[in-house]
Amino acid sequence: MKAKTKGYYKLREEIDWLAKKLEKQHKKHLACKMGCDLCCMDYSLLPVEFYSIANALKDQNLKLDYPSVTKEGNCVFLKDHKCTIYSERPIICRTHGLPLLYMNENEEWELSACELNFTTFDMDDFTNENTFPQDRFNSDLFMLNKEFIRELKDKNYGEFDLIPLRELINHLETRKY
Ligand code: SF4
Repeated sequence: MKAKTKGYYKLREEIDWLAKKLEKQHKKHLACKMGCDLCCMDYSLLPVEFYSIANALKDQNLKLDYPSVTKEGNCVFLKDHKCTIYSERPIICRTHGLPLLYMNENEEWELSACELNFTTFDMDDFTNENTFPQDRFNSDLFMLNKEFIRELKDKNYGEFDLIPLRELINHLETRKY
């Protein structure tokens, strides 16, 4: 399964690089800080990302420390306001707080960012150069996933199937992967 998830890590590196660059660029407009977990929700992932993270956590033999009960809607890996799988957190978590540019269902460009950020920033100053092109990376991930599920013969995932991140706990506890 590792060879099939190679493309995922390459994409993640590219995203990390851009996220770091944007963080630097917007430093004074970001209220993001350690202990803030406003963006940490109960996400679901495409299989390519789910299994990549499962494999990485298995390889690290990480002793997971997560709360036995979580607040509804909260991520199961959030403990004491901190991410317990930080180095392997999903792509969506790597862009938390940044200005995300995407096309909405009416085919209009929209920008999304945490309400705590950019409070004094002039929205007209957002350009292609200082925003995160979410659609581009989402389509790259979608294509990687298409290839990945095609090769996963023992499962029958559809192109749009998502796996809740919380399912990772079962995988890690039973080592079912
Ligand atoms: S994986 Fe980590 S960063 Fe992502 S939502 Fe969960 S706790 Fe937050």
